[in-house]
Amino acid sequence: MTDTTAYDYVIVGGGTAGSVIAHRLTADPGVTVAVIEGGPSDVDRPDVLTLRRWMGLLGGDLDYDYPTTEQPRGNSHIRHSRARVLGGCSSHNTLISFKPLPSDWDEWEEAGAEGWNAAAMDPYYDKLLNNIVPVDEKDRNAIARDFVDAAESALGVPRVEGFNKKPFHEGVGFFDLAYHPEDNKRSSASVAYLHPVMDERPNLHLMLETWAYRLEFDGTRATGVHVRTKDGAERLVSARREVLVCAGAVDTPRLLLHSGIGPRADLEKLGIPVVHDLPGVGENLLDHPESVIVWETNGPIPDNSAMDSDAGLFVRRDPGSRGPDLMFHFYQIPFTDNPERLGYERPAYGVSMTPNIPKPRSRGRLYLTSADPEVKPALDFRYFTDEDDYDGRTLVDGIRIAREIAGTEPLAGWLKREVCPGPEVTGDEELSEYARKVAHTVYHPAGTCRMGAADDERAVVGPDLRIRGLDGIRIADASVFPTMPAVNPMIGVLMVGEKAAELLGGGA
Ligand SMILES: Cc1cc2nc3c(=O)[nH]c(=O)nc-3n(C[C@H](O)[C@H](O)[C@H](O)COP(=O)(O)OP(=O)(O)OC[C@H]3O[C@@H](n4cnc5c(N)ncnc54)[C@H](O)[C@@H]3O)c2cc1C
Repeated sequence: MTDTTAYDYVIVGGGTAGSVIAHRLTADPGVTVAVIEGGPSDVDRPDVLTLRRWMGLLGGDLDYDYPTTEQPRGNSHIRHSRARVLGGCSSHNTLISFKPLPSDWDEWEEAGAEGWNAAAMDPYYDKLLNNIVPVDEKDRNAIARDFVDAAESALGVPRVEGFNKKPFHEGVGFFDLAYHPEDNKRSSASVAYLHPVMDERPNLHLMLETWAYRLEFDGTRATGVHVRTKDGAERLVSARREVLVCAGAVDTPRLLLHSGIGPRADLEKLGIPVVHDLPGVGENLLDHPESVIVWETNGPIPDNSAMDSDAGLFVRRDPGSRGPDLMFHFYQIPFTDNPERLGYERPAYGVSMTPNIPKPRSRGRLYLTSADPEVKPALDFRYFTDEDDYDGRTLVDGIRIAREIAGTEPLAGWLKREVCPGPEVTGDEELSEYARKVAHTVYHPAGTCRMGAADDERAVVGPDLRIRGLDGIRIADASVFPTMPAVNPMIGVLMVGEKAAELLGGGA
């Protein structure tokens, strides 16, 4: 028997964007909001709340853990971590915090997202409640400091103290992080937006460990969400005003497709009744792929850190590029998970640089393989398939640049040998082969329900985040990104949440 309860707004996903919207809407005590969240609470969970423990969450009980399809030019073994816990991926990511660059937002507007240009979006950064601060002095490891010095002198890029202070094309330095340095506690979306209000606001209803498996429609109007609770009970949670889908770049298109919203032929092939033919759902799957180069160090390195990858580098190889076209995270650990599959060993002590592609050109696709909502969707990123091999070539350049930095003091003095790919691997072809086979993800899937202009038939939402052709339903999460920001996307997602709340009249 289906039990029904009604709220003004029903938010699917208490993750990064969903937490922001829930906070803003419930600031009005007259508005009721239900948040349907697949995972448990993060309150009193040091395993979640301690930033430096992030790696321990990958692949575990709090991870939906999505595989990729066969990647002929990439690494078919990549697992895409997606958090199953309040706060979503902001509760198990590394909380590196970059305001998207002005060129990133302007590119969105050029792609049809009217009103999402840099000048219009800037104020939403100032609204964010997260504690965004530079990596604390006590967390700045000696080898990471020497990486910054070496990159500055090897490449002549400026040293940046506070990447969010002004737009940049190039630079090296310690990141800004959303954390509380005194106890290494996350300042995730849930910590910043939900913890302070969740026991105070009777109009905020958190439905934890509850899975949304289908959207309910009356004609073209969304009226609610079918959910299954932890104990297997099924309910229809009704929305008097609107449904907000904030389940992330994988689970938002997944839910839409299971609800009959997507490319007609694909849905019919699986026997899913078509509610609304929307060809763009699941298309435009974006990510930031990265490769890795690992060195053994002469011995142990100091242990202090915020989260083991506290500094990074942006390079602009093409002066015509609107922003950086190569980015590196510096890890003060040997990150050999992928190279080990090719036979490389993991040194006892080591460091890594992970070149990644800020503006990748390959485009993938998410699709269903079964009408059973329990079956995970297929993620085909089509890594390194762009026509000119821009993506593959970028990683090759990245390995060469990483070697230049490693050969420069004061970093050079720490390093005993290059473990992988190894100094003997030097040619374009062999570097490309290595870089692609050990490629990993920076865990930034986006774009699968992209925003676009009203007359763009491949767009899934309009600039007001409403799903094209439907009423009473919007999407707000990483899936609406028309293009990938050059920087790590979480702050962009939080700003999407803030703008969505304002569009709904909940700007408080
Ligand atoms: C390991 C890792 C490291 C990262 N590091 C960084 C970083 O340092 N900096 C950065 O900028 N970005 C980083 N990212 C990316 C960033 O965290 C994400 O882009 C962003 O958090 C996505 O936000 P979202 O709101 O789209 O989705 P999410 O935050 O994933 O929220 C989706 C929520 O919906 C829930 N949900 C999904 N489906 C359902 C359903 N059917 N029913 C009920 N609930 C559902 C999920 O449990 C989740 O809570 C990282 C990501 C990962 C995984």
